[in-house]
Amino acid sequence: MRKSALHRRAFAAACVILLAATLILVREHTRIPDGHMTVRFFDVGQGDSALLVSPSGKTVLIDSGPDLSALEALGTALPLSKKSIDLLILSHPDPDHFTAFPEVLRRFRVGALMLPDVRNDETPYLSLLAIAKEQGVPLVPADPHRDLDLKDGVTLDILWPPDPAPLAEDNDNSIVLRAAFGTGSILFTGDLSVKGEEVLLASGIDVSAHVLKVGHHGSRFSSSDAFLAAVHPRLAVISVGKDNHYGHPNPETLGRLEKAGIPVRSTMGEGEIDLIF
Ligand SMILES: [Zn+2]
Repeated sequence: MRKSALHRRAFAAACVILLAATLILVREHTRIPDGHMTVRFFDVGQGDSALLVSPSGKTVLIDSGPDLSALEALGTALPLSKKSIDLLILSHPDPDHFTAFPEVLRRFRVGALMLPDVRNDETPYLSLLAIAKEQGVPLVPADPHRDLDLKDGVTLDILWPPDPAPLAEDNDNSIVLRAAFGTGSILFTGDLSVKGEEVLLASGIDVSAHVLKVGHHGSRFSSSDAFLAAVHPRLAVISVGKDNHYGHPNPETLGRLEKAGIPVRSTMGEGEIDLIF
């Protein structure tokens, strides 16, 4: 082969390597902490999973959906070099909220797993606890008297459930928490139903927030008029799967949101929803 042809090939190879390196750098740059609090509602179908990234890059994964799609979404959302998650929060032990957690515990260094104070003897939940133990991940009970300060402007106010959990249904003892940063805030409600909302409101707890993660995927039995008025959000997000057989989100719930003048976004319509505070 002639020398000039060899040079041309070497030059083309160098260009390809440079282009690949630039693309990786651009990809990583979009994932480094940028001084905002970001909340990504992953598109996990019929379930909940949201990743909160604080201004300094601390990560909190609230629920992990009904399958392993949250793992794939984490791979896209986090920098390639990031192999740790500071906190996992399980709102309540239903499979549409924790199916990816065992794999997350195996693949990432996890700081702690926060759980509501409920008893559940079903095998998937017990094996989640066993995997956390095997990985040396501490279990932290959700304690409304101990809020979390991420030390970079983000606070996680645990509002619910009190100890002992007051209601019979696991859904009504979902962890309810408000993440706040600067003047912005978002309320996560798990699968809390109207009954849980009533007891929560009756206890006088301030639930107001700028964004509401709508309870129980937009079920008819969540998001009462009184609860929507108390939260008074500027935006509601529904995490829900296409063509689910529960009929979520229910038209009555959508009607209540519309009547209250609250714009709605849903993962069913948009896929992943990213909010920047
Ligand atoms: Zn659910």
